[in-house]
Formats: sequence, structure tokens, C-alpha cells
Amino acid sequence: MADIVIIGAGPAGISAAEVLCAQGLRPILIDEGARAGGQGYRRPADDLALDMTRLMGSEAGKYVALHRRFAALRPKIDYRPRTLVWAIDGNQLHLLCDARAETLAFDRLLIASGAMDRVAPLPGWTLPGVFTLGGAQVALKDQGCLIGSRVAFLGSSPLLALAAKQYRDMGAQIAVIADTTPFAAKAATIPALLRAPRTLLRGIWYMGASLRAGTEMLHGVTPIAVEGADRVEALVLADARGRERRFACDAVALGYGLKPETQLADLARAEFAYDPDFRLHLPRIDSLGRARPGLYLAGDGVRIGGADAAEASGALAAHAILADLGHPQDSEAVRRLARQVERLRAFQLGLARAFAWPAAQIAVLPDSVTLCRCENVTVGEVRAAMEKELGPIEVNRVKAMTRCGMGRCQGRVCGPALQEIVAAKSGQDGACAGRLRGQAPVKPIALAAAGDAA
Ligand SMILES: Cc1cc2nc3c(=O)[nH]c(=O)nc-3n(C[C@H](O)[C@H](O)[C@H](O)COP(=O)(O)OP(=O)(O)OC[C@H]3O[C@@H](n4cnc5c(N)ncnc54)[C@H](O)[C@@H]3O)c2cc1C
Repeated sequence: MADIVIIGAGPAGISAAEVLCAQGLRPILIDEGARAGGQGYRRPADDLALDMTRLMGSEAGKYVALHRRFAALRPKIDYRPRTLVWAIDGNQLHLLCDARAETLAFDRLLIASGAMDRVAPLPGWTLPGVFTLGGAQVALKDQGCLIGSRVAFLGSSPLLALAAKQYRDMGAQIAVIADTTPFAAKAATIPALLRAPRTLLRGIWYMGASLRAGTEMLHGVTPIAVEGADRVEALVLADARGRERRFACDAVALGYGLKPETQLADLARAEFAYDPDFRLHLPRIDSLGRARPGLYLAGDGVRIGGADAAEASGALAAHAILADLGHPQDSEAVRRLARQVERLRAFQLGLARAFAWPAAQIAVLPDSVTLCRCENVTVGEVRAAMEKELGPIEVNRVKAMTRCGMGRCQGRVCGPALQEIVAAKSGQDGACAGRLRGQAPVKPIALAAAGDAA
């Protein structure tokens, strides 16, 4: 029997495993987290008295259903929680399981590694008290903590209003919800957003809930700085009319949408192409999720689509695996799933336009702003290095010259902003600025563990 390994026990990985089990296969499901569910349906530790039904709001039903399905699935699969895949070498995965290094061979690999926050730096973003929006949600759902008692939400994402509601429900004050995309730009995308009317209504409801709670919501803002002596004291921005506004707060959550976690796909030799709508280099896949023979990609780790699209694309990739192993194809199920994925990803495209990545604002960031937090490289150092170089330049060359993107996070945080700085400085588009190549280890590991594996 073929060894099928799935990386990621979120909605995509779980639904893929269900489809495979239904055909009598026993996949290995690996996740670095201690509990299944992935990012959006993250389950807190059992001894944490968090009311997840209240916290998940309109998503509570899906949250409960996914965890029930996983409980039923668990005895039928080889589930390996707390196991980080930190490198891929041919058909071998390098794992770190509870600090123990291991390797695991596979015949078929499905990567469903999800997404992470895309971050736009601004002056003061390195002050203690500034979190990504996802980080703010993880603190809440994983540890039952708030990032502050008076929180400002800044960025361009439908999740700003959702997270603000979750924080308000848990007793935080909301200083402001400030979105960089102008209101008119959002309104223009409504026809595309009607592809998923229930999700659209949910988004509008969350915005309405913020307004009903008296929270100020601004659109079309230009971030100026996070201020504070040794931790966050205020968020300063220019509103849509250009007036400077200062919001006192003790924490800021930055949310500019999500970006697929593609490093593992890169190490597994997927090909990439630039997507001008998302302004990201994304892995190429066919309509079922095949990236190359034996390699399948699903969920937010390949295209941001939300939890429902992740589930459908995970199931679709599992059908591709079954077909490639010679199992009879359930053509009707495949057609239905493909239509669902296509519809939900079209909706996300609308969202990507409604909540645009602020490329133009990043391009003009002051030289003094820290770009790479791991290696402490400023925007000015990147620009100065580019001035020394003759001829075309792309992000990997800038990384070699400045160490920007060479630290602990391997450019997962600074990469998208670096791409915009390089593109703007060299007068190229994002495609020519290139993408930081994935490098092992994809996440920090102890040197001893890497040594064991060598
Ligand atoms: C921080 C965060 C918070 C979010 N909150 C919400 C929300 O409140 N509401 C909402 O609708 N959507 C939310 N989303 C979006 C939502 O999580 C996704 O749309 C959905 O979960 C995608 O499902 P998935 O299966 O593709 O990936 P995920 O659910 O992200 O699952 C991926 C899994 O892969 C695992 N993984 C990744 N890399 C490795 C590795 N190297 N080794 C081992 N395991 C690995 C991760 O631990 C994770 O469990 C959030 C996303 C993020 C990043």
C-alpha cells in the first residue's frame, strides 16, 4: 500500500484524510500543533475554560462539526500531533517530534499547511504590544489571553471586524478599526462578493456589530506610526480626508490578510507563478491540486480561500490521489467539489480587491523603518544596497547583500514587504522582484536536531 502523508490537520487536511479513509486507506496526518483543527478552528487546551461556541459566533456550528468529524476519524488514521516538518529532501520528510528528530518516507505527499498573516511594516511596529491579527487571535483561542485592554485594529482585512468583535466579547475596549482600503473600492467589489452571499452577509454583520457597539471604523486610512516610549501607547494615522488622528491604546493588531505558507511546497519542488491580484508568487496546481507527480497541495497553503474552500480543496486533492493510485473516480463528487472551490476562490479574489494589500504605502515607507526584525535590517539599508548593485536585482540578491529575510523566520514575515520595496526601488513589478526561495529549516529548530538528521 502506498504511504500517503498529509501535512496539516486543518479543514483541508482533515477532509482529505476522510476521503482517503472512506476508500480503505490509512494516511499519516502530521501537524505541529498539539490539537487538530488548524488555525481558524483552533481548539484550546482542555483545561482552559473558554466558551468556544460564543467565541466562534456564526462559525460555531462548523467548529463543533469539524472537531466531531476529527474524533471519528482519529482511530482510522496514523495521526502525529506536535510534529514539525522542517525540511523535505526527495521523498523524505525531516520531522521534529517532541524535540526528537526523525525522517519519514512517502509515496504521495499532500501539503495542507495553511496560511499566516501578511504584514505591512510601519514606524513603531517593533514596539512591544504590536501583534499580527492572527497572533492576537491565537492568544485568545489558544491561551485565553488578550493582547491588551484597549486594542487598535489596523490593516486591510475582513478579519479586523471579526477579531475586534471577539476581543470586545472577551472584555477588551476597541480603540479603532482602521482599514487602509477606501470604502468606494470595497463597494466596487460587491458583485464579485455575491459569489458567496452568506459569507458576505456575515462580514457586513460583523462590521455592523462594531458600529452598534460604538467602535469607530475608518476606511482609506494611511498609517503613520505606532507610538510609545517602551511599549505601545498610541496608533497615529491619517484618515481618508488626510487629517491626522491619534488613538490611545496599549496594543495594536496588524491584519493585512493572509498569505499561503508555501515553503514546504517549495522544498517539495512545486513550481511557482506570480499572481498580480494577490501580489504573491503562488504554487502552480491543476484543477484538482496536483503540483507535480506525487505532490498535491490544498487549502489556504496554496490559495487563500477560507475554511470552506480549504475543506473542498482537501477533498479534491484526495480524489486526485485516489485517481493516481488507480482507484475508480467518483466523477460527480469531483465535479461538485471543483465547482465549490472555484466559486469560493472567486469570492476570495473579490476580497483581495476589497481589502487590498497596500503596496503603494509600503513602497514609500521611510528609510528608518525596520523591515527585517530577525536581522534588524531597515528599509533604507535595502534601498542603499540596491543603489550599489549594477543591473537588475531581485529579492534573493538583496537578501544576500543585506541579510534581510535570512533570520529565524526565513523571510516569512518581511518577504512580502521586501518584494514591494525592491519592486518600487527598481521600477519593476512584483513578478520581476522575485520571491524569496524556501530554505530548510522552515521554522526555527534546535541545531542539535538538524545535526541528528544530517
Ligand atoms: C492565525 C490565523 C487565524 C485565523 N482565524 C480565522 C477566524 O477566526 N475565522 C476564519 O473564518 N478564518 C480564520 N483564519 C483563516 C482560516 O484559518 C483558514 O481559512 C482555514 O483554517 C484554512 O484551512 P487549512 O486546512 O488550509 O489550513 P489551517 O487551518 O491553517 O491548517 C494548517 C495546519 O498545518 C499545520 N502546519 C503548517 N506547517 C506545518 C509544518 N511545517 N509542519 C507540521 N504542521 C504544519 C498547522 O499547524 C495547521 O494546523 C485564520 C487564519 C490564521 C492564519
